[in-house]
Amino acid sequence: MKAAVLEAYHQPLAIRDAEISQPGLGEVTVAVKAVGLCLTDVHISEGKIPTVKLPLITGHEFAGVIDKTGPGVKDFKTGDRVVVNIDVICGRCDHCLRGETNRCSNLIRIGFERNGGMAEYVNVPAINIEKISEKVPFEKAAIFPDAVATTYRAMKTIGKVSAGTKVAILGIGGLGMEGILIGKLLGAHITCTSRNEKSLKWQELWERITSSTQLKRISLRRQGSTLAVMPLSLKRSRFWVPGLPIEVSFVRS
Ligand SMILES: [Zn+2]
Ligand SMILES: [Zn+2]
Repeated sequence: MKAAVLEAYHQPLAIRDAEISQPGLGEVTVAVKAVGLCLTDVHISEGKIPTVKLPLITGHEFAGVIDKTGPGVKDFKTGDRVVVNIDVICGRCDHCLRGETNRCSNLIRIGFERNGGMAEYVNVPAINIEKISEKVPFEKAAIFPDAVATTYRAMKTIGKVSAGTKVAILGIGGLGMEGILIGKLLGAHITCTSRNEKSLKWQELWERITSSTQLKRISLRRQGSTLAVMPLSLKRSRFWVPGLPIEVSFVRS
């Protein structure tokens, strides 16, 4: 199979022929149809993730079709459309037993400490996959387990956001944009902040898409360890963000 391999830090990925073994016990082989490029992939390529060993096939946001199933796999079959959760956990450490699997003491992440989805095929544990509908395009499904699920859990599960909740999203990067859309679906009132004008232009775009949310223009400047607000107009109010050690002011544009 062909794979994009990170062979050296600060170098482009090399397209190589790579071996793919038969899926092991409890594993499936996924034929990758779409793979996302995360900022973390850039950090990996710059040698900033100490647990990464080269050479590595990166790619931790991907979706595809099951090509083969290994021994012991009963719930999936060849041809199933799937997305892949990146965390391969031990299931027996204190964190796993408490349900905090993202903090597993023996965590191995697909695309970090084992080969990922920048390849035609990748073997992953069947317990890490979820089926997706025919209606969901692979390129959209690919980011569900990482960017979308991260923000969804933060807002819905941990933050208990529901209709009418006032939500402040600090920073309009990839996760912030997901947060706007998820917050909109949950019926929340969204206020976004950004320290640079370019991101605020994105905010304006999302404001048009999510017209019923209450987005406000705001610009923040970092002062020491706190964030100071630079108002863009004169109508101004203030609020505390629960759980965060900062006070945010915002203004209506
Ligand atoms: Zn990522
Ligand atoms: Zn564990």
